[in-house]
Amino acid sequence: TAEVEGVPVSALDRHAELAELAEEANWRYYVLDAPTVSDGEYDSWMRELRELEEAHPSLVTPDSPTQKVGAPISTDFTPVRHLRRLESLDNAFNDADLAAWQARAERLLERDPAPYLCELKIDGLAIAVVYEKGRLVRAATRGDGRVGDDVTANVRTIANIPHRLHGDDVPDLLEVRGEIYLTVDGFVKLNEQLVAAGKPPFANPRNSAAGSLRQKDPRITAQRDLKMIAHGVGVWEGSAPLPATQSGVYERLRDFGLPVSPLYKVVDTLTAIEEFIENYRQHRHDTEYEIDGVVVKLDRIELQRQLGSTSRAPRWAIAFKYPPEEVNTKLLDIQVGV
Ligand code: NAD
Repeated sequence: TAEVEGVPVSALDRHAELAELAEEANWRYYVLDAPTVSDGEYDSWMRELRELEEAHPSLVTPDSPTQKVGAPISTDFTPVRHLRRLESLDNAFNDADLAAWQARAERLLERDPAPYLCELKIDGLAIAVVYEKGRLVRAATRGDGRVGDDVTANVRTIANIPHRLHGDDVPDLLEVRGEIYLTVDGFVKLNEQLVAAGKPPFANPRNSAAGSLRQKDPRITAQRDLKMIAHGVGVWEGSAPLPATQSGVYERLRDFGLPVSPLYKVVDTLTAIEEFIENYRQHRHDTEYEIDGVVVKLDRIELQRQLGSTSRAPRWAIAFKYPPEEVNTKLLDIQVGV
């Protein structure tokens, strides 16, 4: 078979084809908020890309979709450079992937990485909200991880995001990361309204949240009943020290008046992580927002720092993804009802 620098031409061609498909899908998903392929199909392209790159490492270039976060931002908003890079998450699709993640952490740290914090993976969009001396000064979407869209005016309309933090010991500079979402009920209602107005409905709650947040007119965002759940901190500067654990950070954020999910659990073993995952697999539809999996993080911040990140994701966290639900019956009902 023909080869270029040791890589079969068939692999080169397939890699180029998949990369182009993924780029196009990223653009439609992240910039237009209107995907045309299912998440399952997109994930299978990405898996095949990774497999090709593992077999032929010269295919790993900085512009490969496997090395990037999100997509370049749109031109509708002012670009903002994040104080610290926002990342994606590596995925686990089964218990073996999860065990491999845990084993790698243990090997790199040369110690038991427990305890682990398990929480729900909300299918919304990532946001970074910056507070200076307790006042909300800026909010930006993840964008490509380095530069996001300035959506401060839109975020100010979201009822559960405080404009001012409570307490005397708030950090001088705090960048909170979280997920913005629309409730499943809110999504169904919004689609009914859109369809009634002759407009195309959103494909899923995640896209409806992204589309609702990224409105040029914040008054439209204000009507959309968006919410946030905080799930991390990018920057914490001030006299009060950053807590030693992720769960400790959540407690402090809650004290400041920020929305934090009560549905997290700190556990010590892989078995307990698997039980948490199994429990929410059974109760996947019991939350007001859509979840697409469980995120597992090392609870100790010190160990998170030691492990650091790859070019696109932290090594100290992993997203266990439930199988995608290809048919959204609620959406289908609406479309059938037209
Ligand atoms: P991701 O959704 O797999 O995970 C990373 C994100 O999870 C983080 O940025 C964070 O915002 C979010 N998150 C939710 N809950 C969290 C929690 N508790 N703790 C920490 N983070 C949490 O990765 P991604 O890079 O945002 O998106 C990739 C996925 O998007 C793909 O796997 C696919 O499902 C979908 N996608 C689909 C298409 C399409 O065309 N259908 C295109 C692009 C991406």
